Amino acid sequence: MNNYREQYTTADGKSVRPVVSLTCNFSKPVGDKPALLSFDEVETFFHEFGHGLHGLLSQCTYVSIAGTNVSRDFVELPSQIMEHWAAEPEVLKMYAKHYQTGEVIPQELIDKMDKAGKFNQGFVTSEFIAAAFLDMDFHTITNQGDIDVNAFEKTALDKLGLIKEIIPRYRPTYFAHAFSWGYSSGYYAYTWAEVLDADAFNAYKETGDIFNQDVAKSFRKIFLNAGTVMNQ
Ligand SMILES: [Zn+2]
Repeated sequence: MNNYREQYTTADGKSVRPVVSLTCNFSKPVGDKPALLSFDEVETFFHEFGHGLHGLLSQCTYVSIAGTNVSRDFVELPSQIMEHWAAEPEVLKMYAKHYQTGEVIPQELIDKMDKAGKFNQGFVTSEFIAAAFLDMDFHTITNQGDIDVNAFEKTALDKLGLIKEIIPRYRPTYFAHAFSWGYSSGYYAYTWAEVLDADAFNAYKETGDIFNQDVAKSFRKIFLNAGTVMNQ
């Protein structure tokens, strides 16, 4: 998702509308076959579309807090929540159709996708959180002297009681997120946003309707219109 122009309000009260695009680097057509997206690509598309909506529906005064210019541990909520719809059987049946026969994705395949999506999540979550703790430990060092990174890592992981079968997703010597791309001490944000998006999606689920208009309106008002709501 790219912003060519972000939303803001002028001094005389006019809302300047944003210009947002999605540029996708997806599977190309092969031979006579059209471009067929993998489910991973579909999820990416829904995800980026969520960032797009966050930008497009922004109703803020200041560009610095409009659209996707929000705290890092919030910015992935509007995008990750969209991934829930991508995988919902009700939604899959709308778009996941056989490209030749038009046959809607069978329930059996949906069940398999659901099971595969849960595979190894204990490992995945643990390696991720271990890296998030390590990132936080690096950014809360009070001793300004030299440190031995390997010893530092060992102390940090021992403190967590991480078992030897699981190593952090990134080791300190190549953990780029810890020191660049604006993620410094914010690697936890991916997981934190997952908690937020699961919670927000549940608000729809609880009504028994994943397209509930009242929830959608409040989601739009509270999150998508408001910019940096979590900072307020
Ligand atoms: Zn994202």
